[in-house]
Amino acid sequence: MTPGPGAPRLRAGHTLSLVIPMHNESAGLEALFQRLDAALGGLGVGLEIVCVDDGSRDDTFDRLRARATHDPRLRLVALTRNFGKEAALTAGIEAATGQLVVPLDADLQDPPELIGEFITLWEQGYDVVYGVRANRDSDSAAKRLSARLFYRLFNLLSDYPIPPSTGDFRLMDRAVVDALRQLPERNRFMKGLFAWVGFRQVGVPYVRPARTAGETSFGYFSLFRFALDGLTAFTTLPLKVWTGVGVIAAFLAIVFAAVIVGQVLIGGREVPGYASLMVVILFGFALQLIALGVLGEYIGRMYQEVKGRPVYMVRERIGFDR
Ligand code: UDP
Ligand code: MG
Repeated sequence: MTPGPGAPRLRAGHTLSLVIPMHNESAGLEALFQRLDAALGGLGVGLEIVCVDDGSRDDTFDRLRARATHDPRLRLVALTRNFGKEAALTAGIEAATGQLVVPLDADLQDPPELIGEFITLWEQGYDVVYGVRANRDSDSAAKRLSARLFYRLFNLLSDYPIPPSTGDFRLMDRAVVDALRQLPERNRFMKGLFAWVGFRQVGVPYVRPARTAGETSFGYFSLFRFALDGLTAFTTLPLKVWTGVGVIAAFLAIVFAAVIVGQVLIGGREVPGYASLMVVILFGFALQLIALGVLGEYIGRMYQEVKGRPVYMVRERIGFDR
């Protein structure tokens, strides 16, 4: 599928689909469209802008609708409530029709100026070109640390490593998008799915600026849930590790028992040890609770998957008939 040297991959009729999930992004919409026009006007490829309103409580959707009356590039998908960014992205990627698809944050943290470079690399034969954050200066220290820990842990446990400091901002060929669409899971941890599908991928470093307007939708608690979603979706090691822990604990218990029996036989003395007994019992009890908790995390998610509910519900679609 790699085009030979000189055979341009971009053909007449190809379009670039931007997929922009939006949750309460009204304040930054004007700036967003201005930047998009300035950055993408000269790319020489038709543009489709898929905006997914993820249950915004401000007037994001009204503004988009007004804009769509005079901007034929706009395609709007309004979800029936807030389904979360992963679901909104899924909705947008499924609605996009372009040969090239680029998910983009609405707050301009993913600089659209980079897309030209993405396309150049795609022309060279890469199917996925992803942005890699050159630094995390626009993040708080706590966020930097937790992100580092997450990528370490994820890539240690998962068979499908995610390049650290990579977000959803990337350019994907149609073939990749079609592969993504075949994945049936309800839990859409997109970064993991992007890694899982494979293809020829390459990273481009960029500096991620702070949000232009509005506020982040992700507090620490939702980031923690998000990390758990990702880990449980792509690794089963936390489930399996308990067999090993159990075997080791049992072994230690046997050794301990032998030591006690030996002490009684040789020394003939009463074994002291209310304190050590309590420690062992409490420690064993805690281990069991942790193991049960891990099981719960997985079973809860399996329950979600088994129900097979759609990932999102659409209230309104605008602009798809032109
Ligand atoms: N977003 C969304 N649904 C949500 C939360 C966020 O569609 O439930 C969108 C949001 O509008 C933005 C993108 O996802 O376009 C990234 O969100 P945000 O900037 O709040 O996250 P951060 O950059 O702080 O990680
Ligand atoms: Mg942001």
